[in-house]
Amino acid sequence: MKILGIESSCDETAVSVVEDGRHVLSNMVVSQIEEHKLYGGVVPEIASRRHCESIVNVTNLALSEAGVALSEIDAVAVTYAPGLIGALLVGVNFAKGLALAAGKPLIPVHHIRGHIAANYLAYPELKPPFLCMVMSGGHSHIVWVKSYTEFEIIGRTRDDAVGEAYDKAARALGFSYPGGVQMDKAAKEGDPSHYHLPKPRVEGCPYDFSFSGLKTAVLNLINNSRQKGETVVINDVAAAFQATVCDLIADRLMRAAKERKADKIVLAGGVSANSGIRERMQKECQEAGMKLYMPPLCYCGDNAAMIASQGYFEFLNAAKAGMNLNGTASLPITDEKFDRI
Ligand code: ATP
Ligand code: MG
Ligand code: FE
Repeated sequence: MKILGIESSCDETAVSVVEDGRHVLSNMVVSQIEEHKLYGGVVPEIASRRHCESIVNVTNLALSEAGVALSEIDAVAVTYAPGLIGALLVGVNFAKGLALAAGKPLIPVHHIRGHIAANYLAYPELKPPFLCMVMSGGHSHIVWVKSYTEFEIIGRTRDDAVGEAYDKAARALGFSYPGGVQMDKAAKEGDPSHYHLPKPRVEGCPYDFSFSGLKTAVLNLINNSRQKGETVVINDVAAAFQATVCDLIADRLMRAAKERKADKIVLAGGVSANSGIRERMQKECQEAGMKLYMPPLCYCGDNAAMIASQGYFEFLNAAKAGMNLNGTASLPITDEKFDRI
């Protein structure tokens, strides 16, 4: 079964064709990052406009790269939540038009379920149940993936997402948006023991995170050093930040894995591209005798192959929508917000 996936929840216009949820036939991504960089973050109105301009071309490219005509597609899957509402609406309405015109089923996909499904593309043997650490620009969740379409949130951030904390700390250190990758590079050159950063805990909730405290600690460290006339060693701050994030994630995730008797741990989302987190989790899982799955770097960030993959499993679970499908800016991974037909 061939599914055309469409993703436009943030600043990537992406379209992909995936067969049976696992085999990528094409994967087109047009990023708007260079334009948003000028403003230090994603400007929602610009994002919506660029999606409108790109979506037809990106779709044609994805179909031609896959070597299939629209009539050979079996269903259209689209990210309908969560994300920037104007950006989501471009993909949702385009998908509705395409599905209606071609007479194909329309499958709504939750963006974060898609990030998890990125792993199904790379690991044919991977099947739920498993424990997943979702870490992206807007989310930081420990999720128990019961089946392809059933999820339980075990832990979550109480404030900033880890990607958001990376980007804000990076900005304070003078890196351009989005600074996560640059922080990762700088961290590898730095000494993590030069500066000490706190590891915030959420009282009574052993699997929850608080990343905003960590970000604030970086801002305070920079301000205090400047006030004292000391030079801030950027690579050392980045290294301390990265080491602290690794400790926090490894601690919560491994404890949750033991509690759930998980034998598989899966990473998902843009921040799962982080080299420090990947290395640390490899070591932790090896020591604990657990199997670790991490998305290949090309599927960590936003793409539509992951949406088409999850769309396949949603389709098998009868999640078809009608022409009244709407975009939804925020929606927990456990929920569904559309009328099934
Ligand atoms: P969400 O998926 O929650 O809606 P999003 O789609 O904006 O948010 P993603 O595209 O999954 O988020 O991830 C983007 C985030 O990943 C950014 O915050 C970016 O800085 C971060 N990121 C990417 N690569 C790395 C890296 N190597 N180290 C740390 N952070 C990284
Ligand atoms: Mg993006
Ligand atoms: Fe994302």
